[in-house]
Amino acid sequence: MNKNSHKFLLSDLSNLKGVGKRIENLLKKKGVNNIFDLLWKLPKTYTDRSFTSKIKDLKISNIETVSVIPYKYSFPRIRNLPNRVLCKDETGQLDCVFFNSYEGYIKKILPLGKTVTISGKISHFKNKYQITNPKHISENEELVKGKHNEYSLTEGISQNVYNKIIKQILENLPDLKEWHSKDICKIFNNISWNKSIIELHRPENIGKHSENFYQRLAYDEIFSFFLVNSEIRKKIKKIKKQKKIFDIKDQNRIISKLNFNLTNDQKKSLEQINKDLNSSTKMFRLLQGDVGSGKTIVSLLAALNSIKSGFQVAFMAPTEILARQHYKLAKDLFENDISINLLSSKSETKIKKEIIKKLEEKKIDLIFGTHAIFQKKIIFKKLGLVIIDEQHKFGVNQRKRLSDKGGDNCDVLLMSATPIPRTLTMTIYGDMDLSIIREKPKSRKEVITYSKLESKIDDVLKFIQKEIKNENQIFWVCPLIEESKKIDHASAISKFKFLSKIFPNQVALLHGKTDMEEKEIILNKFLKREYKILVSTTVIEVGIDFPNATVIVIENANKFGISQLHQLRGRVGRGSKQSNCILMFKSNLSENAKKRIKILKKSNDGFEISEEDMKLRGYGDILGFKQSGIKNFRLADPIHNGDLFEIAENEIKRIENENEDISGFKQLLKLYDRADIINDIA
Ligand code: ADP
Ligand code: MG
Repeated sequence: MNKNSHKFLLSDLSNLKGVGKRIENLLKKKGVNNIFDLLWKLPKTYTDRSFTSKIKDLKISNIETVSVIPYKYSFPRIRNLPNRVLCKDETGQLDCVFFNSYEGYIKKILPLGKTVTISGKISHFKNKYQITNPKHISENEELVKGKHNEYSLTEGISQNVYNKIIKQILENLPDLKEWHSKDICKIFNNISWNKSIIELHRPENIGKHSENFYQRLAYDEIFSFFLVNSEIRKKIKKIKKQKKIFDIKDQNRIISKLNFNLTNDQKKSLEQINKDLNSSTKMFRLLQGDVGSGKTIVSLLAALNSIKSGFQVAFMAPTEILARQHYKLAKDLFENDISINLLSSKSETKIKKEIIKKLEEKKIDLIFGTHAIFQKKIIFKKLGLVIIDEQHKFGVNQRKRLSDKGGDNCDVLLMSATPIPRTLTMTIYGDMDLSIIREKPKSRKEVITYSKLESKIDDVLKFIQKEIKNENQIFWVCPLIEESKKIDHASAISKFKFLSKIFPNQVALLHGKTDMEEKEIILNKFLKREYKILVSTTVIEVGIDFPNATVIVIENANKFGISQLHQLRGRVGRGSKQSNCILMFKSNLSENAKKRIKILKKSNDGFEISEEDMKLRGYGDILGFKQSGIKNFRLADPIHNGDLFEIAENEIKRIENENEDISGFKQLLKLYDRADIINDIA
């Protein structure tokens, strides 16, 4: 195999000597599919067998290495009695004891009269030193001596086999051409990828995460993610489209009708979007902002501008009720200026057909709906913008498909209310341009967060009573739908019954098994204030605006992460009244729970909270990360490697700005298994 090719690393494990189908299959089950994958199975600790002792100096219970001469076998041939080999050096005697080992094997590894080096744990039996089932034995002293890595084992594979496999890989590493620029290499003191891998597996380097070799490899990983994202973004930018030319006056006329002023971040985001609409390259942008930050109005204004330049706009929401709410808002806002419609799955077939026909004839400018508006049979005469609300769950591949929809002239705007830590933004959303609304509307009062023990439920009920008297509404969130004996979760159903007794005819119930139609009816009634309290599992729709809800009670609050609690809390505090979030706990709070509440009480900023959440729970649990389809990092750590993420981000910007040819990164992309997305990288 070519010494300078990455191909060896991507080949099957069975290409290694001593690795047969059995070991290959065991490792495959653990997700190790090729040699490269195995590089990241790192030793957890090591045993030092460097120093040889004489028998008289052996210490009981220690792992010792000693060179001895076997001089007598004892093979009792009685069940349960072990085989023994008596060994000696010039200072004393040592017994090697073997349970379940064949005579032939023992004779082979411990030939009489030869000098053999053995390493193992020393015990003492009948006044003699002994080693039981020694695994490190060789006539070649050098093979036994030294530091031996201990891997966390895959069942069926021993430490010895692991060490041998890894050693073989390290001895055969290809000499890859450096892919990074000189400046980047300098940051890591010019250590090569190859050398870094060797260092990574040195026993004495276990846990040394701030050394150059480790940092370089973590950087490679981050950079490869970013580079792929950047390539996708570049590819989308290459798509030429018809510029959208519109008069900003229309937009400003609508803004002047609002009973609030746009925040600076809303204005900035709108400007960025308008600039994209106005350019001759396709827009692929994410509008990110905390719950209640006012993304909808920004997107509707973008829709207006696209329509005024002669295009149609499709606005997709994750649920019917949310689509309907947006539709109503647009009707109010734009009045009869443009033609607006809602494609609902519940509309009569006749009406649906009519809508479809009108879309094809461009008699509808703005259509709202769920993913149903992207059915094959729906054809737009001149689609110019697709807006997708609350879709942070899409992964890179899905988003790429979305951007293809609607053809080249169609711009794409995605919206997400799930703030994520800065280091993850480029990782998850690096394929898009980003507008961020951090600033909340000024009129908004911060939600006040309380914590309460469940035993104090009477206080909570009193509080609710008062709120109801003031014409306010309440969300009551329970984690599970049915009483489970095993899991001590609160039950929405029994809570509903309980609250109904206290507040007759004022409580509604929603849970995961409520069907869509039923759910909409209930939510609509709640919106119309026919109910005062809505008991639910976490199914309360994202995005729906319930301006009249001022209290959210969250039971068993320690079952949720803080980002999730913050999202739930965002269901209230949308109007101008003071809102409250009551976190209920079953028992006294753990230190960790106290920390989480403290963070929630202190901050109402989703971005800040997501950073804290990541520190407490690790990045794997951050909302949106798991769903993003991104495999976990092997070495890179978004919590501790913020600096590396920043370096990678800047390097990507440099490469983009200088329009640098990226063919030099081919091997990096192939190795890190990211090339599949950019299909034209050979
Ligand atoms: P989200 O970003 O979660 O989608 P919405 O767009 O639903 O938030 O906005 C939440 C509420 O805030 C709506 O009732 C909206 O009318 C209102 N709102 C939006 N922008 C502002 C602003 N600048 N000042 C005051 N209220 C605003
Ligand atoms: Mg929204």
